[in-house]
Amino acid sequence: MRDLLAETFLRLVRTASPTGHEAAVAELVAQYLADLGLAITRDNAQETCEAECGNLLAFLPGTAPGYPVIMLNAHLDTVVHEGEIEPVVEGDFIRSAGETILGADDKAGIALILLALRQIIEEKLPHGDLWAVFTVAEETGLWGAQRLDYARLQPWPQMCYALDGGRQPGKMGTAAPSSSSLDVTITGRAVHAGVRPEAGVSAILAAAQAISALQLGRLDPETTANVGTIAGGSAPNIVPERCVLRAEARSHDDGKLTAQIEHMTVCFREAGRSVGAQVEVEVGRSYTAFALAEDAPLVQRAAQAARRLGLEPVTERGGGGSDANVFNEYGIPSLMMATGAMDLHTSQEQLNIAASLECLEWLVETATISDG
Ligand SMILES: [Zn+2]
Repeated sequence: MRDLLAETFLRLVRTASPTGHEAAVAELVAQYLADLGLAITRDNAQETCEAECGNLLAFLPGTAPGYPVIMLNAHLDTVVHEGEIEPVVEGDFIRSAGETILGADDKAGIALILLALRQIIEEKLPHGDLWAVFTVAEETGLWGAQRLDYARLQPWPQMCYALDGGRQPGKMGTAAPSSSSLDVTITGRAVHAGVRPEAGVSAILAAAQAISALQLGRLDPETTANVGTIAGGSAPNIVPERCVLRAEARSHDDGKLTAQIEHMTVCFREAGRSVGAQVEVEVGRSYTAFALAEDAPLVQRAAQAARRLGLEPVTERGGGGSDANVFNEYGIPSLMMATGAMDLHTSQEQLNIAASLECLEWLVETATISDG
């Protein structure tokens, strides 16, 4: 199984799939699922987001009564990278040879789902109805999950395990924050900086004042905020007319998130007023928080499966959003299950093969453990 896992994972990471270029890996996954005999459909998510193709939905009818309808999920896209991904196997680890990401986020999740389904089918393990849903354009805003054609999910999944976000065997993400974005455009007045500076209104000065007044970083155990990009001005000798900033805030507590967004909006508006610039703030909700109870059936099921394998089940709160946020919002209780990947979104990204194998066993156990 170790070789099969490594081989499957390597094939997936060698098929590059930065957001907007998911078609090739979607084809690979669809072929694998078709060979296993699963019924496959694709929705039209690409028509309303930047994905290259639709989400891939595969269904495996149950073989035994007394199981919930379970959905397994991973996303097909990776963060954008420059240059080809060159995976190397070093002992128990698969790393990226070059400066790029490895793509274990989320190719590790895809590999685990494919191998779990294969094992369940080949070993004729009893199971209920299983959905495998592979989403597109996750990394740039959970677009595939947001545009998923939920009407196709019949029977409706009672729980979902999203194989995403790294983590080591036994660990599951059962809570994630809400996130909102702020797009700020500051408009001042451009004049020659040496001839008539008195008549100018500097949009960059307003931005600087706003940022120095902002509370940013980790604000409390539940809340974070960041100004991520800033662009403005046109030349050293022109008082800058425009400055555009993109910022975000996250919190596990929606009240705190609302307060932080309000604080940020007020800082930008006051700074604009103090220098005489116009400020436009556009606030968008990126995704909504979730927090599963420890006794939620999907948490209990995964915890019980972990214990049976001698793993210690640990629930934890994540700081990032994922498709699980969207599925929870749509009424499918979802948690993030470990994949054995580490250092996601960096050139240090790696897959611990032994850990990933344990995650595979855990996933199979979770999908096939009987309720009774
Ligand atoms: Zn991911």
